[in-house]
Amino acid sequence: MEAADPAPPGADSVRRGIRLARRTYPPRIVGLALGSLCAGAGMYQADAPLWVWCLMLVYCAAWPHIAFQISINASSPFEAERRNVLVDSFAGGIWPVAMAFNLLPSVLLVAALAMNNYSIGGARLFLKGVVAHIAGAGLAIVFLGLEFQPESNFLTVLLCVPFLLSYPLVMGLVMHRLSVQLSQRTGELLLEKRRADEANLANTRALSEAALRDDLTGLFNRRHMQELLTQQRLACQRSGDRFALALIDLDHFKHINDTHGHATGDNVLRAFAEHVGAAMRGTDTLGRWGGEEFLVLFASSTANEATQGVERLRHAVAAAVVATPSGQALTFTVSVGLTEHVSPESVDALVERADRAMYQAKSLGRNRVVTLLAAPQV
Ligand code: GH3
Ligand code: MG
Ligand code: MG
Repeated sequence: MEAADPAPPGADSVRRGIRLARRTYPPRIVGLALGSLCAGAGMYQADAPLWVWCLMLVYCAAWPHIAFQISINASSPFEAERRNVLVDSFAGGIWPVAMAFNLLPSVLLVAALAMNNYSIGGARLFLKGVVAHIAGAGLAIVFLGLEFQPESNFLTVLLCVPFLLSYPLVMGLVMHRLSVQLSQRTGELLLEKRRADEANLANTRALSEAALRDDLTGLFNRRHMQELLTQQRLACQRSGDRFALALIDLDHFKHINDTHGHATGDNVLRAFAEHVGAAMRGTDTLGRWGGEEFLVLFASSTANEATQGVERLRHAVAAAVVATPSGQALTFTVSVGLTEHVSPESVDALVERADRAMYQAKSLGRNRVVTLLAAPQV
């Protein structure tokens, strides 16, 4: 009277086997008590010998408790419970012979046991149960001989009624309980799966976001800036819009490293990212181009319009202070090359012009901005 329950390995298997034995215990007590009424009626009709009556009554009274003890004390309760249902089937083969195959109680017992075996162990246990029935019947025929009186009289029908009524009810109850447990478990599994999916998605997002970033400053890295410039160039080529680009190089950065140490140099790079990042408009994008060089992409701006942004940026740099290991307050400056994209020039040509502008700023004494525009097209 149990649903198919494959035996998992290990401690979980023992726990589930014991649970199965506990679930089977009360239905086996009730089933054998009511079954003894059916079998008793058939045996009464067939005038079975006294020793068979004794055997049947002792079996029906004792077996549920013995079976339960065997299962819960077994090293594999699951397997023990499967063996127990085969004992049920073996005994279930004896009583129809003792009843001279009285039709109603015989069919009832065999059908109930078959349903039980199938629900616990599927087709395999069902077939083993059939073999156990045949073995039980064979043994009974050896001792009792083979008689055949299939008609069930009214008393037999009457004594089968409690079993007929209660067995489907108990079966329905067990199935209902199992289906409730199953739907709860399914809900839990779905929830677990959704949580795992969300965590995976967040992880994937974090990983792909991290792949766009520079480890030291957290700004966009060179690869992503290159990608953004390419996209911007294509968009402007379609729309006829403009965009400006600033290449920023920290002045005498090697000297900062040499004088205060590489770690201080790193702190200067972080301070630059933090201060400049905070001073930028939402539409402009700052990225690390490499070493102590940074790029700012000014979307939908001419170089002239971007000048204001670059000045804001230089003020932010001027306000940035980094503490050196010796306790000094270190400030730094930048040289900026500013230019503007002219369709359909390539990203490389644009960056190369910004680089030239930046080197002009260096050669003019650093800490300044030089704007260099493309030669007018003729
Ligand atoms: P200039 O004013 O002409 O730009 O001089 P500079 O010293 O800034 O330029 P240079 O190209 O001679 O030196 C850049 C230095 O930046 C050299 C390199 O070791 C250092 N550097 C590059 N990446 C990092 C980094 O991630 N951290 C630190 N601390 N230093 C870096
Ligand atoms: Mg440089
Ligand atoms: Mg430099």
